[in-house]
Amino acid sequence: MFDSLQNRLGDVFDRLKKRGALKEADVTAALREVRVALLEADVALPVVKDFIDKVRERAVGQEVIKSVSPGQQVIKIVHDNLVEMLGTEAGTINLNAVPPVPILMVGLQGGGKTTSTAKLAKRLKEKDRKKVLMASLDIYRPAAREQLRVLGEQIEVATLPIAENETPVSIAKRAMAAGKLQGYDVVMLDTAGRLSIDESMMDEVIQVRDAVNPVETILVADAMTGQDAVTTARNFHERVGLTGIVLTRMDGDARGGAALSMRAVTGVPIKGVGVGERADALEDFHPERVAGRILG
Ligand code: GDP
Repeated sequence: MFDSLQNRLGDVFDRLKKRGALKEADVTAALREVRVALLEADVALPVVKDFIDKVRERAVGQEVIKSVSPGQQVIKIVHDNLVEMLGTEAGTINLNAVPPVPILMVGLQGGGKTTSTAKLAKRLKEKDRKKVLMASLDIYRPAAREQLRVLGEQIEVATLPIAENETPVSIAKRAMAAGKLQGYDVVMLDTAGRLSIDESMMDEVIQVRDAVNPVETILVADAMTGQDAVTTARNFHERVGLTGIVLTRMDGDARGGAALSMRAVTGVPIKGVGVGERADALEDFHPERVAGRILG
C-alpha cells in the first residue's frame, strides 16, 4: 500500500559511504525522505521538524557500524527516536486514590468515547478485578446515554440509572455518591462530546473535573482524523489537563501519525489503542509497532 521507507531510501542509501562517519549531507538527504514519510503518515508539520532536527543531531558524525549498512543505521536511529518520542512508559490506568476512583473520559463526538469507556471498564473489571460504575453525562443526546447502558449490559458493568433534568455536574456527583455508597472501586464518567472544539463543551468538562477531581482525564481521539486529532489534543490539554490518550480506529488504515503528534503536543502517554467496535477491541500501546507503521 505504501512505499516502505527502506525502498524509498534505496537510492539515497546507495550513495552513502560504506565506512567512516555519517556525513551531514548524506544524513540530510536521507532525512528528506523520512520527512515525506512522516508527513504522509499525517504527523503534524512542527512535530516533523522537531523530530528531523533531533535525529540529524544524533546521526551526523556517528561512526558507521561495520555489521550494518549506513542506510540501516540511519533507519535504526530514526526508528529508535520515534519509539522514544512515542513514549515507552507502561500505559496503565492510575488508580492511586481512595475509591471510588473517578476517571473522566473526554473527546469529540464520534471519536469513540462511549465505546472506549466500555472497553476500559471491561479491562478494569477483568484484568484488574475492579468493581466499575459507568455514567453518561450527555444530557443532550438520550441515544448516547442509552448506548452506554446497553454496552454496560453487554459487558456486565453497572451504569448509573438515568434520571431526568440533571446537569452534567449533578450526574457526576450522583455517580460518585452511588460509587461510594455501593462500594465501587472506579467511577467512569463519559462526558458529552461536540462535533468540534466548542467553548461550552470545555466549560462543562472543566466544571465536572472541578466537581470530582479525577485521577485520570483521558482523551479519546480517532486516529483517522490525523491533524484534527492534534488540534483536539492541544485544546483539551491546555484547557482541561489530560493524563492519557486512547487512540481509536487503529484497525483502519490510518498510519498512526496522530499518535506521535498528540504525544509530542501533550506529553501524556497513550493508554490504549482501539482496534474495532467490540468491547474487547482494546490493545495496549506498543510504540515499536506504531513506529513501524508510521515509517511504512
Ligand atoms: P463517541 O461519540 O465519541 O462516544 O463515539 P462512539 O463510542 O459512539 O463511537 C462512534 C462509532 O465508532 C461507533 O460506531 C463505534 O462502534 C465506532 N468505534 C469506536 N472505536 C472504534 C475503533 O477502535 N475501531 C472501529 N473500527 N470503530 C470504532
